[in-house]
Amino acid sequence: MAWFKRNTKGISTSTNEKKEAPDGVWNKCPNCKKALHYTEQAENKHVCMYCNYHLRIGSKEYFEILFDNNAFVELFPNLTSGDPLSFVDTKSYKDRIVESTKKTGLKDAIRAAHGQIDQQDLVVACMDFNFIGGSMGSVVGEKIARSVDYCIEHKIPFLMISKSGGARMMEAAFSLMQMAKTSAKLALLAKAKIPYISLLTDPTTGGVTASYAMLGDVNIAEPGALIGFAGPRVIKETIKKDLPKGFQTSEFVLEHGFLDFIVDRRELKKKLSSFIHMMNN
Ligand SMILES: [Zn+2]
Repeated sequence: MAWFKRNTKGISTSTNEKKEAPDGVWNKCPNCKKALHYTEQAENKHVCMYCNYHLRIGSKEYFEILFDNNAFVELFPNLTSGDPLSFVDTKSYKDRIVESTKKTGLKDAIRAAHGQIDQQDLVVACMDFNFIGGSMGSVVGEKIARSVDYCIEHKIPFLMISKSGGARMMEAAFSLMQMAKTSAKLALLAKAKIPYISLLTDPTTGGVTASYAMLGDVNIAEPGALIGFAGPRVIKETIKKDLPKGFQTSEFVLEHGFLDFIVDRRELKKKLSSFIHMMNN
């Protein structure tokens, strides 16, 4: 027998069952737990190629997916949050902002940009969940309000991509005021007859659902996203009843008439583009 033949059974893990991988190159699908190579994942618009799970992504990835050649001008990039209440919980709000900025490279939980989608102008405001849970503070509200003004001035359709845990507790009432502010601005956009598309992604909850996320001329969502006001656990404890299967998923919300359609992220650009084309002409 040749010296290189293996007589006894050694390592028995087949390649697709191996879990360890160097950081940054491989990712694990949170749903089916299969390993995803980052390049392939990005090519597939960050949708798992095995189970179609839509991985959570941020503004950087959405801009890449939507804008032609990833070309865009970021709007109001330097807005940052103040600390009007000198709020302290486990740490001070000021420190939390500094830490989140350092960790994510973002100034707040939203970025807005003007670019083109199949040669049609579009302003996109997109939330980032990594920045304090995508919470809606005054910067989020202000950027949406200014984006709407920009859209009215330049007559450009507006796309809002929501991904949020709701209000930003550290800004208390200042956070809640953003709901009224953004809703009022969107009413002006409607009056100017400029299309507003709202895309709800996983998760869209709290004050965001209760204001701008549900005010689109069309409200669309990604598959399997959590969409609701209060979380399922809170509701269950309040009504003391088991919740129906699939409660607060996009599919459930669609069935109950709150959404116009659900869109696979790989089809997103095409669908948005044809929709904008239809509304512009
Ligand atoms: Zn998967």
